[in-house]
Amino acid sequence: MSKALRDKYEDVDLSPGQGKGSAALALFLGSLSLLGALCFWMPAVFTTPEFRGFYNTGILKPLLQLCIVLGFGCGLFSMMRHQSAGYGLTGMVLAVAAALVGSGHIEAPNIDGRNLYVGLDYFVLTLVVLALVFVPLERAFPKDPAQNILRKGWITDLKYFMFSHMGVQLISFFTVIPVQVFLHQVTTWEFQLWIAAQPIWLQFIEILLVVDFGTYWIHRTMHEIPALWKIHAVHHSTEQMNWLASSRLHLIEILVNRLAGYLPIFVLGFAPSAVYAYLVFISFHAIFIHANVRFRFPVLRWLLATPEYHHWHHSSEDEAIDKNYAGFLPIYDVLFGTVFMPKHLASRYGTVSDNIPDGIVGQFLYPFRSWFKRSE
Ligand SMILES: [Zn+2]
Repeated sequence: MSKALRDKYEDVDLSPGQGKGSAALALFLGSLSLLGALCFWMPAVFTTPEFRGFYNTGILKPLLQLCIVLGFGCGLFSMMRHQSAGYGLTGMVLAVAAALVGSGHIEAPNIDGRNLYVGLDYFVLTLVVLALVFVPLERAFPKDPAQNILRKGWITDLKYFMFSHMGVQLISFFTVIPVQVFLHQVTTWEFQLWIAAQPIWLQFIEILLVVDFGTYWIHRTMHEIPALWKIHAVHHSTEQMNWLASSRLHLIEILVNRLAGYLPIFVLGFAPSAVYAYLVFISFHAIFIHANVRFRFPVLRWLLATPEYHHWHHSSEDEAIDKNYAGFLPIYDVLFGTVFMPKHLASRYGTVSDNIPDGIVGQFLYPFRSWFKRSE
């Protein structure tokens, strides 16, 4: 996407009366309907095998039809209110396309097998659930009330979100499999059985302690070794914090973090239910700490990483640089001397000396380009 186009769609004021809110809603519902309709049309290609058993078409089909109708309606409303009718019209076209794709394919997706698939459903479901939680939350308790929902950089971050959710199968392939191959050499069954026999809540806490210790040092290393910083700087390039900013991660960083996260989990042999509970919890928490919210939890802010805590990690203010590395437990920052929690909230974000491109491709190439320049 060109810079001019991106400027047009980013940092959009959606306050009522201009027809822009309904246009955005029309585009959102229209796109969702189309993606949902694709899942109905070719479930073997577009849906996640683990999810298929849970789908109830008796509920999902009317829901899809409701989204189509609402998307169409919002588009129509926006066309009547807004001078440039293009967005509302696009939302209507998407809704109609969804109706065409989705009609006549109402059989329950009943497919077994684990062939290659695109987790379109996973992307759609998580996006809808997260938007329903975080958009109202950020509107009700904003840290920066002037910041728009469609803030600068949201398109880039949505692409990251899409990539990491739809590519979940590939990312797992490159991380879980190497870990499992490695494991055949190092572990003993008795030890793993003993670990897995503990209560689930205890295993959950142990996973948090162990993984957070590892990710503290990986995170700190990425800040302190200049060549690795170029990878992690992409995550820090966001200048306006919100829930979607958590998705902005370079592919190398996603792979390294998951490898490092899975390794102790599999080596120690935690029970799958404890691991799943941990993964769901920590994914949600990672999004929460990036959110544009002003909460300051009285005691908790010293025990668990909160938005206040992690926003300081993203701050470009001098005294906050290279502080608050912990993902979940600030105790590691306290122990290793990197904690920073003043009485006020952070206000400036972004990198200090790196000039990072706005687009996802430029950001992917950024570390490679800077390494190449370095060695000349
Ligand atoms: Zn960082």
